Amino acid sequence: MISERAKTVEAAATLAMSKLAKDMQANGIDVINLGVGESNFQTPKRIAQAAIAAIQAEQTSFYTPTSGIKALKQAIIDQVKQRFDADIAISNVTVTTGAKLSLYALMQVLVNPEDTVVAAAPLWVSYVEQIKLAGGILHTVKPTNDELKLTVADLNALPQKVKLVILNSPTNPTGQVYTRDEVTAILDWANQHGAYIILDEIYGQLVYNGAVFTSGLQIQALENSRMIIVDGVSKAYAMTGWRIGWTLASSDIISAMNKLLDHMTSNPTAVAQYAALAALTGDQDSVEEMRLAFEDRLNATYDLLNTVPGLQVAIKPQGAFYLFPKVTPEVLVAAGVKNTSELSMKILEEAHVAMPSGEGFGMPGYLRMGYAKDQTVLNEAVRRLTVFFEQYT
Ligand code: PMP
Repeated sequence: MISERAKTVEAAATLAMSKLAKDMQANGIDVINLGVGESNFQTPKRIAQAAIAAIQAEQTSFYTPTSGIKALKQAIIDQVKQRFDADIAISNVTVTTGAKLSLYALMQVLVNPEDTVVAAAPLWVSYVEQIKLAGGILHTVKPTNDELKLTVADLNALPQKVKLVILNSPTNPTGQVYTRDEVTAILDWANQHGAYIILDEIYGQLVYNGAVFTSGLQIQALENSRMIIVDGVSKAYAMTGWRIGWTLASSDIISAMNKLLDHMTSNPTAVAQYAALAALTGDQDSVEEMRLAFEDRLNATYDLLNTVPGLQVAIKPQGAFYLFPKVTPEVLVAAGVKNTSELSMKILEEAHVAMPSGEGFGMPGYLRMGYAKDQTVLNEAVRRLTVFFEQYT
Protein backbone atom coordinates (compact mmCIF):
# COMPACT_ATOMS: atom_id res chain seq x y z
CA MET A 1 0.00 0.00 0.00
CA ILE A 2 1.05 3.55 -0.66
CA SER A 3 2.21 5.40 2.47
CA GLU A 4 0.02 8.04 4.09
CA ARG A 5 2.84 10.49 3.46
CA ALA A 6 2.91 9.81 -0.27
CA LYS A 7 -0.86 10.04 -0.47
CA THR A 8 -0.79 13.64 0.73
CA VAL A 9 1.39 14.80 -2.17
CA GLU A 10 -0.22 16.60 -5.09
CA ALA A 11 1.23 16.11 -8.57
CA ALA A 12 2.94 19.26 -9.90
CA ALA A 13 0.19 21.23 -11.61
CA THR A 14 2.69 22.58 -14.13
CA LEU A 15 4.03 19.15 -15.08
CA ALA A 16 0.50 17.67 -15.16
CA MET A 17 -0.70 20.36 -17.57
CA SER A 18 2.39 19.89 -19.69
CA LYS A 19 1.87 16.13 -19.80
CA LEU A 20 -1.73 16.57 -20.94
CA ALA A 21 -0.50 18.89 -23.68
CA LYS A 22 2.17 16.41 -24.76
CA ASP A 23 -0.39 13.56 -24.81
CA MET A 24 -2.64 15.66 -27.04
CA GLN A 25 0.30 16.48 -29.30
CA ALA A 26 1.08 12.75 -29.55
CA ASN A 27 -2.50 12.29 -30.77
CA GLY A 28 -1.86 14.74 -33.57
CA ILE A 29 -3.51 17.78 -31.93
CA ASP A 30 -1.69 21.06 -32.49
CA VAL A 31 -1.33 22.20 -28.86
CA ILE A 32 0.80 25.18 -27.84
CA ASN A 33 2.42 24.19 -24.58
CA LEU A 34 3.08 27.21 -22.38
CA GLY A 35 2.81 25.04 -19.30
CA VAL A 36 6.25 24.29 -17.96
CA GLY A 37 9.32 26.37 -17.09
CA GLU A 38 11.54 25.24 -19.93
CA SER A 39 13.49 27.46 -22.26
CA ASN A 40 12.91 26.86 -25.96
CA PHE A 41 16.62 27.43 -26.57
CA GLN A 42 18.97 24.52 -26.99
CA THR A 43 21.80 24.09 -24.50
CA PRO A 44 24.72 26.00 -26.09
CA LYS A 45 26.90 23.68 -28.21
CA ARG A 46 30.10 24.34 -26.25
CA ILE A 47 28.40 23.12 -23.07
CA ALA A 48 27.09 19.96 -24.72
CA GLN A 49 30.59 19.38 -26.17
CA ALA A 50 32.09 19.50 -22.67
CA ALA A 51 29.73 16.71 -21.62
CA ILE A 52 30.70 14.64 -24.67
CA ALA A 53 34.37 15.21 -23.83
CA ALA A 54 33.70 14.09 -20.22
CA ILE A 55 32.16 10.85 -21.51
CA GLN A 56 35.09 10.30 -23.85
CA ALA A 57 37.51 10.95 -20.98
CA GLU A 58 35.60 8.27 -19.04
CA GLN A 59 34.52 10.53 -16.18
CA THR A 60 31.63 8.17 -15.68
CA SER A 61 32.54 4.97 -13.85
CA PHE A 62 32.87 6.43 -10.32
CA TYR A 63 30.86 8.44 -7.84
CA THR A 64 31.95 12.04 -7.57
CA PRO A 65 31.94 13.60 -4.08
CA THR A 66 28.33 13.95 -2.90
CA SER A 67 28.64 17.74 -2.97
CA GLY A 68 30.00 17.75 -6.52
CA ILE A 69 33.37 17.87 -8.27
CA LYS A 70 35.80 20.39 -6.83
CA ALA A 71 36.22 22.24 -10.14
CA LEU A 72 32.49 22.94 -10.36
CA LYS A 73 32.27 24.11 -6.75
CA GLN A 74 35.24 26.40 -7.43
CA ALA A 75 33.53 27.72 -10.58
CA ILE A 76 30.43 28.50 -8.52
CA ILE A 77 32.58 30.33 -5.95
CA ASP A 78 34.28 32.30 -8.74
CA GLN A 79 30.94 33.22 -10.30
CA VAL A 80 29.62 34.41 -6.94
CA LYS A 81 32.73 36.57 -6.55
CA GLN A 82 32.37 37.98 -10.03
CA ARG A 83 28.60 38.59 -9.94
CA PHE A 84 28.19 39.71 -6.33
CA ASP A 85 31.70 40.46 -5.04
CA ALA A 86 31.08 37.97 -2.23
CA ASP A 87 33.61 35.53 -0.79
CA ILE A 88 32.42 32.04 0.04
CA ALA A 89 34.34 28.83 0.72
CA ILE A 90 34.12 25.35 -0.77
CA SER A 91 32.46 24.19 2.46
CA ASN A 92 29.59 26.60 1.70
CA VAL A 93 28.65 24.83 -1.55
CA THR A 94 26.81 21.65 -2.43
CA VAL A 95 25.80 20.73 -5.97
CA THR A 96 22.54 18.84 -6.40
CA THR A 97 20.40 17.17 -9.04
CA GLY A 98 18.68 20.44 -9.97
CA ALA A 99 17.78 23.34 -7.71
CA LYS A 100 14.63 21.37 -6.95
CA LEU A 101 16.64 18.75 -5.04
CA SER A 102 18.54 21.50 -3.22
CA LEU A 103 15.20 22.83 -2.01
CA TYR A 104 13.88 19.38 -1.13
CA ALA A 105 17.01 18.53 0.88
CA LEU A 106 16.92 21.93 2.59
CA MET A 107 13.35 21.40 3.78
CA GLN A 108 14.40 18.02 5.17
CA VAL A 109 17.39 19.54 6.93
CA LEU A 110 15.76 22.69 8.32
CA VAL A 111 12.12 21.91 9.01
CA ASN A 112 10.87 19.96 12.02
CA PRO A 113 7.31 18.65 12.19
CA GLU A 114 4.92 21.54 12.93
CA ASP A 115 7.50 24.24 12.10
CA THR A 116 6.05 27.22 10.28
CA VAL A 117 7.43 28.03 6.84
CA VAL A 118 6.35 31.31 5.28
CA ALA A 119 6.19 32.23 1.60
CA ALA A 120 4.18 34.73 -0.39
CA ALA A 121 1.44 33.59 -2.75
CA PRO A 122 1.61 33.05 -5.61
CA LEU A 123 4.45 30.64 -5.08
CA TRP A 124 6.22 27.92 -6.99
CA VAL A 125 4.29 24.67 -6.82
CA SER A 126 7.03 22.43 -5.43
CA TYR A 127 7.65 24.44 -2.24
CA VAL A 128 4.20 23.46 -1.06
CA GLU A 129 4.72 19.71 -1.37
CA GLN A 130 8.33 19.79 -0.20
CA ILE A 131 7.34 21.56 3.01
CA LYS A 132 4.49 19.11 3.53
CA LEU A 133 6.87 16.15 3.08
CA ALA A 134 9.14 17.62 5.75
CA GLY A 135 6.16 17.84 8.12
CA GLY A 136 6.23 21.64 8.15
CA ILE A 137 3.24 23.92 8.06
CA LEU A 138 3.23 26.31 5.15
CA HIS A 139 1.78 29.71 5.87
CA THR A 140 1.16 31.49 2.58
CA VAL A 141 0.96 35.23 2.87
CA LYS A 142 -1.39 36.84 0.37
CA PRO A 143 0.35 40.13 -0.36
CA THR A 144 -1.89 43.16 -0.62
CA ASN A 145 0.29 45.15 -3.04
CA ASP A 146 -0.29 44.94 -6.81
CA GLU A 147 3.16 43.45 -7.35
CA LEU A 148 2.22 40.54 -5.05
CA LYS A 149 5.48 40.90 -3.12
CA LEU A 150 6.14 39.74 0.42
CA THR A 151 6.75 42.67 2.77
CA VAL A 152 8.04 43.10 6.31
CA ALA A 153 4.58 44.32 7.29
CA ASP A 154 3.19 40.93 6.18
CA LEU A 155 5.84 39.16 8.25
CA ASN A 156 5.22 41.36 11.29
CA ALA A 157 1.53 40.48 11.14
CA LEU A 158 2.24 36.77 11.67
CA PRO A 159 1.27 35.61 15.14
CA GLN A 160 3.34 32.43 15.17
CA LYS A 161 7.08 31.81 15.41
CA VAL A 162 8.56 31.41 11.94
CA LYS A 163 11.24 28.81 11.31
CA LEU A 164 11.88 29.51 7.65
CA VAL A 165 11.02 32.17 5.06
CA ILE A 166 11.25 31.44 1.34
CA LEU A 167 11.86 34.36 -0.99
CA ASN A 168 11.97 33.78 -4.73
CA SER A 169 13.25 36.71 -6.75
CA PRO A 170 12.71 37.01 -9.69
CA THR A 171 9.47 35.33 -8.77
CA ASN A 172 7.87 32.37 -10.50
CA PRO A 173 5.05 32.98 -11.54
CA THR A 174 4.76 36.81 -11.35
CA GLY A 175 8.20 37.76 -12.67
CA GLN A 176 8.59 40.42 -9.99
CA VAL A 177 12.09 41.34 -8.83
CA TYR A 178 12.68 42.42 -5.22
CA THR A 179 14.74 45.60 -4.88
CA ARG A 180 17.85 45.74 -2.77
CA ASP A 181 15.94 47.56 -0.03
CA GLU A 182 13.19 44.95 -0.06
CA VAL A 183 15.62 42.02 0.15
CA THR A 184 17.57 43.81 2.89
CA ALA A 185 14.43 44.47 4.92
CA ILE A 186 13.31 40.83 4.72
CA LEU A 187 16.79 39.56 5.62
CA ASP A 188 16.85 41.96 8.59
CA TRP A 189 13.48 40.66 9.71
CA ALA A 190 14.69 37.05 9.47
CA ASN A 191 17.84 37.89 11.44
CA GLN A 192 15.88 39.68 14.16
CA HIS A 193 13.44 36.79 14.48
CA GLY A 194 15.99 33.96 14.36
CA ALA A 195 14.38 32.58 11.19
CA TYR A 196 16.16 30.81 8.38
CA ILE A 197 15.65 32.29 4.94
CA ILE A 198 16.00 30.57 1.58
CA LEU A 199 16.56 32.92 -1.33
CA ASP A 200 15.64 31.05 -4.49
CA GLU A 201 17.73 32.91 -7.07
CA ILE A 202 17.28 30.50 -9.98
CA TYR A 203 16.07 33.30 -12.30
CA GLY A 204 18.69 35.82 -11.10
CA GLN A 205 20.34 36.21 -14.50
CA LEU A 206 17.02 36.72 -16.29
CA VAL A 207 15.95 40.31 -15.57
CA TYR A 208 14.72 42.78 -18.17
CA ASN A 209 14.23 46.39 -19.17
CA GLY A 210 16.84 47.71 -16.75
CA ALA A 211 15.58 45.85 -13.66
CA VAL A 212 18.38 45.07 -11.23
CA PHE A 213 18.62 41.72 -9.50
CA THR A 214 19.85 41.71 -5.90
CA SER A 215 21.32 38.58 -4.38
CA GLY A 216 21.33 38.00 -0.64
CA LEU A 217 25.09 37.51 -1.10
CA GLN A 218 25.43 41.24 -1.84
CA ILE A 219 23.86 42.04 1.51
CA GLN A 220 25.23 39.68 4.13
CA ALA A 221 27.89 37.02 4.65
CA LEU A 222 26.91 33.38 4.42
CA GLU A 223 29.02 31.65 7.06
CA ASN A 224 27.37 31.51 10.48
CA SER A 225 24.21 33.01 9.03
CA ARG A 226 20.74 31.56 8.53
CA MET A 227 20.67 32.76 4.92
CA ILE A 228 20.63 30.11 2.22
CA ILE A 229 20.93 30.66 -1.52
CA VAL A 230 19.60 28.27 -4.16
CA ASP A 231 20.61 28.61 -7.80
CA GLY A 232 21.43 26.44 -10.81
CA VAL A 233 22.05 26.26 -14.53
CA SER A 234 18.55 25.26 -15.70
CA LYS A 235 17.20 28.67 -16.63
CA ALA A 236 20.06 30.98 -17.60
CA TYR A 237 21.95 28.34 -19.62
CA ALA A 238 18.96 26.48 -21.11
CA MET A 239 20.06 23.37 -19.20
CA THR A 240 16.81 22.24 -17.60
CA GLY A 241 17.27 18.60 -18.58
CA TRP A 242 20.81 18.32 -17.22
CA ARG A 243 19.57 18.64 -13.64
CA ILE A 244 22.31 20.68 -11.99
CA GLY A 245 21.60 23.16 -9.21
CA TRP A 246 23.27 24.12 -5.96
CA THR A 247 22.88 25.39 -2.43
CA LEU A 248 25.13 28.01 -0.85
CA ALA A 249 24.89 28.14 2.94
CA SER A 250 26.77 28.07 6.20
CA SER A 251 28.99 24.97 6.32
CA ASP A 252 26.94 23.29 9.07
CA ILE A 253 23.85 23.41 6.85
CA ILE A 254 25.83 22.15 3.86
CA SER A 255 27.27 19.23 5.92
CA ALA A 256 23.78 18.25 7.06
CA MET A 257 22.53 18.37 3.47
CA ASN A 258 25.44 16.27 2.25
CA LYS A 259 24.69 13.56 4.81
CA LEU A 260 21.15 13.35 3.44
CA LEU A 261 22.23 13.53 -0.19
CA ASP A 262 24.67 10.64 0.45
CA HIS A 263 21.60 8.46 0.76
CA MET A 264 19.49 10.12 -1.90
CA THR A 265 21.66 10.53 -4.99
CA SER A 266 25.30 9.95 -3.92
CA ASN A 267 26.08 12.70 -6.40
CA PRO A 268 24.56 14.62 -9.27
CA THR A 269 25.33 12.97 -12.62
CA ALA A 270 29.06 13.35 -13.28
CA VAL A 271 28.71 14.22 -16.97
CA ALA A 272 26.13 16.89 -16.22
CA GLN A 273 28.52 18.40 -13.68
CA TYR A 274 31.18 18.75 -16.39
CA ALA A 275 28.60 20.44 -18.62
CA ALA A 276 27.71 22.85 -15.80
CA LEU A 277 31.41 23.53 -15.27
CA ALA A 278 31.71 24.52 -18.93
CA ALA A 279 28.58 26.65 -18.62
CA LEU A 280 29.99 28.68 -15.73
CA THR A 281 33.60 28.98 -16.86
CA GLY A 282 33.22 29.54 -20.61
CA ASP A 283 32.04 32.44 -22.69
CA GLN A 284 28.87 33.96 -21.17
CA ASP A 285 27.56 35.49 -24.43
CA SER A 286 24.79 32.89 -24.71
CA VAL A 287 23.32 34.04 -21.38
CA GLU A 288 23.00 37.61 -22.65
CA GLU A 289 21.66 36.50 -26.05
CA MET A 290 18.91 34.47 -24.42
CA ARG A 291 18.17 37.22 -21.89
CA LEU A 292 17.73 39.74 -24.71
CA ALA A 293 15.45 37.37 -26.60
CA PHE A 294 13.31 36.85 -23.47
CA GLU A 295 13.18 40.60 -22.94
CA ASP A 296 11.86 41.13 -26.49
CA ARG A 297 9.28 38.40 -26.02
CA LEU A 298 8.19 39.79 -22.67
CA ASN A 299 7.72 43.26 -24.14
CA ALA A 300 5.79 42.03 -27.17
CA THR A 301 3.72 39.42 -25.34
CA TYR A 302 2.86 41.61 -22.33
CA ASP A 303 1.32 44.22 -24.62
CA LEU A 304 -0.49 41.58 -26.68
CA LEU A 305 -1.83 39.69 -23.68
CA ASN A 306 -3.35 42.84 -22.25
CA THR A 307 -5.43 43.14 -25.45
CA VAL A 308 -7.09 39.77 -24.76
CA PRO A 309 -10.54 40.49 -23.35
CA GLY A 310 -10.99 39.11 -19.84
CA LEU A 311 -7.26 38.87 -19.10
CA GLN A 312 -5.14 41.47 -17.37
CA VAL A 313 -1.53 41.65 -16.22
CA ALA A 314 -1.52 44.62 -13.87
CA ILE A 315 2.19 44.97 -13.19
CA LYS A 316 4.68 44.15 -15.91
CA PRO A 317 7.08 41.36 -14.98
CA GLN A 318 10.76 42.29 -14.62
CA GLY A 319 12.33 38.85 -14.65
CA ALA A 320 12.00 35.05 -15.07
CA PHE A 321 9.93 33.98 -18.12
CA TYR A 322 6.29 33.97 -17.09
CA LEU A 323 3.26 36.21 -17.35
CA PHE A 324 0.57 35.76 -14.71
CA PRO A 325 -2.64 37.29 -16.05
CA LYS A 326 -5.66 37.74 -13.86
CA VAL A 327 -8.97 36.44 -15.22
CA THR A 328 -11.98 38.66 -14.71
CA PRO A 329 -14.65 36.91 -12.59
CA GLU A 330 -17.29 37.61 -15.27
CA VAL A 331 -15.41 35.34 -17.69
CA LEU A 332 -15.62 32.40 -15.31
CA VAL A 333 -19.38 32.85 -15.03
CA ALA A 334 -19.85 33.28 -18.78
CA ALA A 335 -17.68 30.25 -19.55
CA GLY A 336 -19.68 28.16 -17.08
CA VAL A 337 -16.68 27.11 -15.00
CA LYS A 338 -16.25 27.18 -11.23
CA ASN A 339 -12.66 28.36 -11.11
CA THR A 340 -9.52 29.05 -13.14
CA SER A 341 -8.48 25.43 -12.79
CA GLU A 342 -11.52 24.37 -14.81
CA LEU A 343 -10.98 27.32 -17.14
CA SER A 344 -7.42 26.25 -17.94
CA MET A 345 -8.73 22.78 -18.88
CA LYS A 346 -11.35 24.36 -21.11
CA ILE A 347 -8.69 26.53 -22.77
CA LEU A 348 -6.57 23.44 -23.37
CA GLU A 349 -9.46 21.47 -24.84
CA GLU A 350 -10.99 24.23 -26.94
CA ALA A 351 -8.18 26.68 -27.77
CA HIS A 352 -5.36 24.13 -27.60
CA VAL A 353 -3.17 26.31 -25.41
CA ALA A 354 -1.73 24.76 -22.24
CA MET A 355 -1.40 27.18 -19.32
CA PRO A 356 -1.57 26.04 -15.68
CA SER A 357 -3.97 27.94 -13.45
CA GLY A 358 -3.18 29.98 -10.35
CA GLU A 359 -4.64 27.33 -8.02
CA GLY A 360 -1.41 25.29 -8.13
CA PHE A 361 0.49 28.45 -7.18
CA GLY A 362 -1.76 29.20 -4.22
CA MET A 363 -3.54 32.01 -6.08
CA PRO A 364 -6.79 31.10 -7.82
CA GLY A 365 -8.14 33.55 -10.37
CA TYR A 366 -4.98 33.65 -12.50
CA LEU A 367 -3.32 31.73 -15.32
CA ARG A 368 0.39 31.31 -15.92
CA MET A 369 1.83 31.73 -19.37
CA GLY A 370 5.45 30.74 -19.96
CA TYR A 371 6.89 32.95 -22.69
CA ALA A 372 10.16 31.08 -23.30
CA LYS A 373 8.91 30.25 -26.80
CA ASP A 374 9.41 31.70 -30.27
CA GLN A 375 7.51 34.94 -30.79
CA THR A 376 5.53 33.40 -33.66
CA VAL A 377 4.32 30.67 -31.29
CA LEU A 378 3.44 33.27 -28.65
CA ASN A 379 1.55 35.37 -31.20
CA GLU A 380 -0.45 32.34 -32.26
CA ALA A 381 -1.17 31.48 -28.60
CA VAL A 382 -2.47 35.01 -27.99
CA ARG A 383 -4.56 34.81 -31.16
CA ARG A 384 -6.16 31.57 -29.95
CA LEU A 385 -6.74 33.02 -26.50
CA THR A 386 -8.38 36.08 -28.01
CA VAL A 387 -10.79 33.90 -29.99
CA PHE A 388 -11.51 31.85 -26.88
CA PHE A 389 -12.09 34.79 -24.52
CA GLU A 390 -14.14 36.79 -27.00
CA GLN A 391 -16.86 34.15 -26.63
CA TYR A 392 -17.17 34.96 -22.95
CA THR A 393 -16.79 38.73 -22.74
N1 PMP B 1 12.79 27.33 -8.19
C1 PMP B 1 11.90 27.88 -9.02
C2 PMP B 1 11.19 29.11 -8.59
C3 PMP B 1 11.63 27.30 -10.26
O1 PMP B 1 10.73 27.87 -11.08
C4 PMP B 1 12.31 26.13 -10.64
C5 PMP B 1 12.05 25.44 -11.96
N2 PMP B 1 10.80 25.53 -12.48
C6 PMP B 1 13.22 25.59 -9.75
C7 PMP B 1 13.44 26.21 -8.53
C8 PMP B 1 13.94 24.30 -10.02
O2 PMP B 1 14.92 24.38 -10.99
P1 PMP B 1 15.79 23.13 -11.39
O3 PMP B 1 15.49 22.85 -12.83
O4 PMP B 1 17.21 23.55 -11.18
O5 PMP B 1 15.44 22.00 -10.51
